[in-house]
Amino acid sequence: MKARLKFGKDRTSKPIISSVILKTRAPINILRAEIDESSGEVLIEVPDEKAKKTVEAFKEMGVEVKVGGFIELLREKCIDCGHCITVCPVEAISAKKDLTVVIDPQKCINCGACVDCCPTRAIETSQ
Ligand code: SF4
Ligand code: SF4
Repeated sequence: MKARLKFGKDRTSKPIISSVILKTRAPINILRAEIDESSGEVLIEVPDEKAKKTVEAFKEMGVEVKVGGFIELLREKCIDCGHCITVCPVEAISAKKDLTVVIDPQKCINCGACVDCCPTRAIETSQ
């Protein structure tokens, strides 16, 4: 399971992730992190069998948790130019045999590169 954690100023100075690891014994993999003194946003990956416990533990610590579904490709806007395929750092975007572009949500790390590069604004990221 991949999940995005969001926390505010009152939480950035606390060892939230290590506390959750100690509590749940879940091997949390940090895929991406943007943390400063005012807020934090971290994308994590956790084995599915530990997902429920981990999400609960973060919520108990006042962390906003969003599971999966970070990126959406708006088919009606996409012109299958393939530009987003070239910028994705984890090869989460590919073209099918008929050259239709698709995104694999299991691989996406929500970096936003495809959102920024798309000439028709066909990719949206959830907040
Ligand atoms: S860059 Fe935009 S228009 Fe081009 S294939 Fe990707 S989503 Fe479609
Ligand atoms: S958000 Fe980043 S990782 Fe996800 S599909 Fe777009 S470029 Fe790839």
